[in-house]
Amino acid sequence: MALASPAPQSRTSVRTSEYRAGLALAEAIIPGSKRIPAADEATYARSMEVMHDFHPAVVTAFNVGVRALDAAAVAFTGKPFHALDAHRQEELLLRWQTDPVLKTPLAAVSLIYKFVHFDRPEVYGTLGGKLNVVKNLEQPRWLSQVHRADAYPDDELECEVVVVGTGAGGAVVGRELAERGFAVAFLEEGEHYRRDAFDGRAIEAHKRFYRGAFTVGNSPMPIFMGRLFGGSTAINGGTSLRTPPWVLERWCDEIGTDAFSPDTMEPYFRRVESFLQIAPSPRDVIGPIADFVARGCDALGWSHHAIPRNAPGCDGKGFCDFGCRTDARLGTNLSYMPAALTKGALCLTGARVDQVLVEHGRAVGVEAVTPTGRKVRVRGKAVILSGGAVPTPLLLLRQGLANSSGQVGRNLSVHPSTGYAALAPEPMMGASHVPQGYGFDQFLRDGIQVLTAQPDYNVSGVIFPFAGQRLMEVVDRIDHLASFGILVSDAKASGRVWRDVGGLPAVTYNLDADDVRRMHHAMVLTSEMALAAGARHLYPFVVGHERLDGAKGLDAFRKEKLGPADFVWTSYHPLGTCRMGGDPKTSVVDLDHACHDVPGLFVVDGSTVRGPIGVNPQLTIMATATRAAGRIAERIG
Ligand SMILES: Cc1cc2nc3c(=O)[nH]c(=O)nc-3n(C[C@H](O)[C@H](O)[C@H](O)COP(=O)(O)OP(=O)(O)OC[C@H]3O[C@@H](n4cnc5c(N)ncnc54)[C@H](O)[C@@H]3O)c2cc1C
Repeated sequence: MALASPAPQSRTSVRTSEYRAGLALAEAIIPGSKRIPAADEATYARSMEVMHDFHPAVVTAFNVGVRALDAAAVAFTGKPFHALDAHRQEELLLRWQTDPVLKTPLAAVSLIYKFVHFDRPEVYGTLGGKLNVVKNLEQPRWLSQVHRADAYPDDELECEVVVVGTGAGGAVVGRELAERGFAVAFLEEGEHYRRDAFDGRAIEAHKRFYRGAFTVGNSPMPIFMGRLFGGSTAINGGTSLRTPPWVLERWCDEIGTDAFSPDTMEPYFRRVESFLQIAPSPRDVIGPIADFVARGCDALGWSHHAIPRNAPGCDGKGFCDFGCRTDARLGTNLSYMPAALTKGALCLTGARVDQVLVEHGRAVGVEAVTPTGRKVRVRGKAVILSGGAVPTPLLLLRQGLANSSGQVGRNLSVHPSTGYAALAPEPMMGASHVPQGYGFDQFLRDGIQVLTAQPDYNVSGVIFPFAGQRLMEVVDRIDHLASFGILVSDAKASGRVWRDVGGLPAVTYNLDADDVRRMHHAMVLTSEMALAAGARHLYPFVVGHERLDGAKGLDAFRKEKLGPADFVWTSYHPLGTCRMGGDPKTSVVDLDHACHDVPGLFVVDGSTVRGPIGVNPQLTIMATATRAAGRIAERIG
């Protein structure tokens, strides 16, 4: 029977049994506390709506999960989940979080409910969150050079350089070429948003600003990327670290060149750093977590640092990953793109490039399609693909272009990451300080990077791989939690982007035993730092794991055998899928970023960066794009 209640039921048909089971699960996963409103019918209804908006098939899959969990309770208790009292339901949640079969549907169902519930304005507000309200946006002149492709009068354009994408690679190479006097046209699949759109809502942010991919492998992992003017740089944490020198030296060895030696790259790094005013945020803006890390590391004799960021004047009051509320963080949307447009470049947004135009074996332009299906063609003497390490190989693979080496889409590294939190003795108030402002780099050379990762209130519940009372415990204490992102350098760059399947990228990636060992070790090290800083309770993000209490808890954790599926992995740093090299048989582009196979076609983005690099990649991509602009200018000039 279809339910006749608010919005979602008018769009999705939900059977009563699914509704009962679904609601019971929502209420058990988020039972509420003095501080946290419990999940209720509105959480359930909004979850259905959000999933339906994403894809109706997601609702179907979700309901399969709900039915499976409801029925599984019969095997344990003789009754379906929805018929149990709260106490029995909580017991089952605890048990299922580590059950080899049931932990997956439980994690998926929990994730949806947590994502939706904590983003409900009344829940976010109750926890302490504040949406950003912007009035009176200024109108700089460069804005007149940005047009929605659908509304642009011409559908055939001529320029000198066509750049596909406006992120770390595209905006930088485009601006550097515009500065040299080239007529540059950017095509960007996403739309142009300004700080009035960066209001802090999590679901809206994901819907409007993000694109996603999900790896298939021994532990599936989402890969987050931007889809908007400014690319991922418009929604990133602002961490701006140089490529470590040992990585640059490795590239030189692998490629057989000195073109990327630390000395040769130095001026490119400096140029980007100076343009983006990269510097650490002041200590009071980073927040008390800086003292917490410093205290722990000093006690252990470890190196720690305030993170260089491209965010001069940041007040630390917003969650960077949903767009900067104050325009302080200089993503390419506020730096390189305005500079290029001021030099006369043009940018069409809402223009997804589907085809590289090739005539007599040479790239001569691109064809893009708009959301209404309009086709726009832009011709130029150079075509630069800068769509990012997942979209760029997809575009080439779809067309069977530039792939005589068979390397397009291969060699993907993702910089696997997960989270960690510790209960600090003093308040951290992470939601009102820089999310990613401090870290320790003592183990960078061993492939371990630990950065603060302070969530806003609407993300706080989502990040923890827990449900029920254990989830309430951590969210209740969120203002006292010191939260971290832990990233490990991939043991092997063995992932692969295959092709689009029904509009979603097919990507494979298997975590190596060394990745798992390294992450486990990194969590132990972070725990040692937290204990040394005075924390007593530790929360490694290991699915269904007990809280670690003091040194004794850590000792037991150290001895555990963990597998790839025990962690909640995410990736924000895909790299390497259009490998650079001197040999056309083993690489896609040469040292000038030119495709070996197709004259006039260049790739300048994360896909030409040989991963893993072990640090956040935007400065690496921007510095290599600065270098690429000089090489390309020489070729086409
Ligand atoms: C949430 C998040 C946080 C991050 N935090 C940091 C950080 O703190 N520090 C750091 O160094 N790195 C960070 N990163 C990573 C960093 O932002 C990326 O590595 C970098 O921006 C990638 O640059 P790119 O040019 O390869 O692609 P992107 O910056 O992603 O730009 C690609 C652009 O091309 C567009 N595009 C793709 N295909 C097409 C097409 N066919 N037609 C038209 N347009 C297309 C996309 O919509 C996108 O706008 C973060 C990433 C994310 C997602």
